[in-house]
Amino acid sequence: PVPIVAVVGRPNVGKSTLVNRLIGRRQAVVEDVPGVTRDRIAYDAQWNGRKFTVVDTGGWEPDAVGRAAAIAAQAEQAIAASDVIVLVVDATVGATDVDDAAARVLHRAAKPVILVANKVDSVRAEADATQLWSMGLGEPHPISALHGRGSGDLLDIILDAL
Ligand code: GDP
Ligand code: MG
Repeated sequence: PVPIVAVVGRPNVGKSTLVNRLIGRRQAVVEDVPGVTRDRIAYDAQWNGRKFTVVDTGGWEPDAVGRAAAIAAQAEQAIAASDVIVLVVDATVGATDVDDAAARVLHRAAKPVILVANKVDSVRAEADATQLWSMGLGEPHPISALHGRGSGDLLDIILDAL
């Protein structure tokens, strides 16, 4: 069976943009409006001759109260349905309560979790990524899904975890 990589995180952190990087195509729907990706969508991908499936998640736009619960449920689903979980955080914003709620759920997972600090568009922004050590999920991996910065290294890390 082809291993499954689930990409989770709150709306607008850049999950779909990252999925496009990981699959090497423009297929996942990227929108400036949060919450656009409908439910969970799976894409075939390949890196260094290894095949894997990338699952983009999203589709909910709950109110502020429901948001932490919604992302916790999303994280639970990802744990159940995938081999590796990629948690995406917007490094320019930092870890919000919602991000920390997801991290707490994923921390208990018996599956590898890769913490991605997205929107690190320049060397100067790398300090933002360092702050995310506070989430307790190990090393934050700085990338710019938009520009492709760090995406090759991230693919290597994902494949190592499979
Ligand atoms: P999703 O809701 O988590 O799937 O987020 P999207 O992939 O739809 O992206 C939300 C917004 O963030 C879009 O306007 C993207 O262009 C932008 N975005 C995504 N990745 C990056 C990045 O690495 N740097 C910057 N500056 N913007 C990004
Ligand atoms: Mg999306």
